[in-house]
Amino acid sequence: MLTELPRAAGTGGSVVVDRCQVCGSADLESVLFLGYLPPVNQMRAIGERPHEQPAYPAELLRCRRCELVQLGLIVDPAILFPPEYPYTSGTTRILRENFAEMQREAAALLGLARKGLVVDVGSNDGTLLENFRAAGHPVCGVEPTLMANLANERGVRTIMSFFGPPAASRVAAECGRAQIVTATNVFAHVEGVHGIVESIVSMLDEGGVFISESHYLMALIETLQYDTIYHEHLRYYSLASLTYLLQAHGLEVIHAKRIPTHGGSIRVYAARKGTRSSLPSVQRMVDAEGDGGPLGERLKAFTSRVARAKLALHALLRDRLVNGARMFGVGAPSRASTLINYVGLDRELLPCVVEVKESYKVGKYMPGTVIPVVDEKALFDAQPEYALLLSWHIADELMPKLAARGFKGSFIVPLPEPRVVPAGGSA
Ligand SMILES: [Zn+2]
Repeated sequence: MLTELPRAAGTGGSVVVDRCQVCGSADLESVLFLGYLPPVNQMRAIGERPHEQPAYPAELLRCRRCELVQLGLIVDPAILFPPEYPYTSGTTRILRENFAEMQREAAALLGLARKGLVVDVGSNDGTLLENFRAAGHPVCGVEPTLMANLANERGVRTIMSFFGPPAASRVAAECGRAQIVTATNVFAHVEGVHGIVESIVSMLDEGGVFISESHYLMALIETLQYDTIYHEHLRYYSLASLTYLLQAHGLEVIHAKRIPTHGGSIRVYAARKGTRSSLPSVQRMVDAEGDGGPLGERLKAFTSRVARAKLALHALLRDRLVNGARMFGVGAPSRASTLINYVGLDRELLPCVVEVKESYKVGKYMPGTVIPVVDEKALFDAQPEYALLLSWHIADELMPKLAARGFKGSFIVPLPEPRVVPAGGSA
């Protein structure tokens, strides 16, 4: 019997994870503690005196039974996604290309019937489904935010709703059973994961396939992405832990591969056990995960690298500050909040963070600090000696772009090893 933790949603508070969210085991090992972090989407206007602000423990746990890595606290989504938080479309170039590639791959691997329904859970503005629609499939998205309207306007049928059993029944009633259900970058965020998988399975037709994309634990470990640890991300999957979860719902993994989105993700295909044969890619990835050694050991090494990376970044910034250099931060994604708060940067070290001027974050302070987020124009006007790249996972794409637009200074890439890329240099 799969027993779930009590829900945090609607409580105005949080739920301590004292049992594994997937297997229910209480044998959870503390891997890393990044301190108490403020919610990343509650940002105060520049000039406002700092208010009382909540902060939540950011502790990473490993389940010794199913190897799921998970946060030790689940915070009420109403706190993490306040009403004033405008949901921004995730349609960057890398995501658009990824979704187009997914459709081509699924068509090639699965032998899809042209009229087979494709459903996307957490479908945003319909970008993913657009690819399947263009290939002749009827499509249906489920999306809780106003992005659903945008999707409908562009002709991608979308039900505006949180996903769960009622939404799944509605999809089945209005559109029939699905040949494919996709869920990209939602699978790690929502509490009550068993209910979600069960609802997804209920939408699939007999030979249907569930395709999920999630940030990949091994990529997080390899490239030291501790900054992707914040309270929206409840679970960090390896193929092993994801397989454990899917098997609990009668699914079998039939294909798995690494993809470049969000600094390193995995795409996993699953079907009802026995309905489709498993490709060699699955065993290859299982073996590759095993080759890295026991997960507990790998995580221990990861944790010690995290502490060293913090000190190394401090030392690098200190030397530059002593020499009178100015450093601006570039980019204010959620991960920037974790890095700034964990490393302990303040406005003396980092007088501002620049963002594209359309961002709702411009005009606010970075969470937990009084570092202002300002229009990126400031970078080109003030020409500080250094730009600290807070979206460092796309540094190779960012550096030439900023240089081409007139930034003459050098770059500091904070992770996995802090490094300076001189002006005019390359990564
Ligand atoms: Zn577990």
